[in-house]
Amino acid sequence: MSGVRRVQVLVVGAGQAGLAAGYHLRRAGLDFAVLDAAAAPGGAWQHYWESLRLFSPAAYSSLPGRPMPGRPGAEWPDAEHVVEYLAEYEKRYELPVHRPVTVTSVADAGDGGLLARTDGGTWHARALISATGSWSRPFVPAIPGRELFTGRRLHTSGYHRAADFTGRRVVVVGGGNSGAQIAADLTGHAAAVRWVTRRPARFLPDEIDGRALFEIATRRVQDGGPRISDLGDIVATEPVRAARAAGLLTDHRMFDALTPDGPRWPDGEVWPADTIIWCTGFRPALAHLAPLGLRTGERGRIATIGTRAATDPRIHLVGYGDWTGPASATLIGVGRTARQAVAEIVALVR
Ligand code: FAD
Repeated sequence: MSGVRRVQVLVVGAGQAGLAAGYHLRRAGLDFAVLDAAAAPGGAWQHYWESLRLFSPAAYSSLPGRPMPGRPGAEWPDAEHVVEYLAEYEKRYELPVHRPVTVTSVADAGDGGLLARTDGGTWHARALISATGSWSRPFVPAIPGRELFTGRRLHTSGYHRAADFTGRRVVVVGGGNSGAQIAADLTGHAAAVRWVTRRPARFLPDEIDGRALFEIATRRVQDGGPRISDLGDIVATEPVRAARAAGLLTDHRMFDALTPDGPRWPDGEVWPADTIIWCTGFRPALAHLAPLGLRTGERGRIATIGTRAATDPRIHLVGYGDWTGPASATLIGVGRTARQAVAEIVALVR
């Protein structure tokens, strides 16, 4: 086929997961390319809010090969620091990142390989690592009256800084890290914040940071230790702890409908609000793999064995969360699963 570029391995996405995969592909000496839809390096970190700080100190937030440098006076780096680190990482290892290139579909090429169609041409590969994350697929639950609310509606993905909400009455929905962090961030700026969670907020013990989460996830795989979700849902970062200690971070149970003026609870209470922020998570961005008809398993996710699609050994999924490797959605954790994926791909293509 003319005009089709050929590589042994194609990586889709150049966030932390795609770069970790690139690092191991480079070390393995394979011919590969990384295609990234974004115009600039940094993956989802380019979009996080200004006050966000990492769960872990820099030294425990590193991709393979290159420790994240600390910043003097900032033990917990911000998102901008991670973007700089990722940009420097792809340069240092001369990773062949092509951007902006969006992969629209991946299909069987009919010759044992795969054809990836993009908005900038077609690629042929023997194997493919999907590392597209979930940032592009914000999830908002179906709540009666959701569209009736006349105030401002946004998702975590649209939140940038607390100062944008000065004087507002804000409902923050979600009992995970984003919900707790954004609710804490807004205190002192918004006129009032009501933090709403489905079940009582469960903070992890204060000493559990990203590094400890990685160790817990590892032990779980090795000898069946506790699940992180058995211990709690929310990392007690410094700003979250401060807001909680000041009595400004109180969780309310979920409302059952939205009215034009605000959420309504089963007892009839309506809390007048002019903004709602849905911190209700994301779904993996996997639409490009649909033409392959990969078998799906639990919760509609592609069934995997480690990182490999259970029904197609050419396809690996890296970085999407524990279902594609313990702590694989973290900077410290993704290197290990990327290494395993590349080891299997080496065996397949050589
Ligand atoms: P992304 O960073 O989303 O990168 C995916 C890339 O793929 C993007 O550049 C995107 O443009 C591209 N892409 C998507 N679809 C296509 C396509 N079809 N074709 C081509 N390219 C495509 N992790 C930590 O380790 N420590 C923390 O402290 C931490 N804090 C967090 C706080 C918040 C609020 C959130 C939301 C996450 C946090 N995380 C943290 C998790 C971490 O940021 C994410 O898990 C991580 O960014 C995922 O990396 P990724 O490479 O898998 O995906």
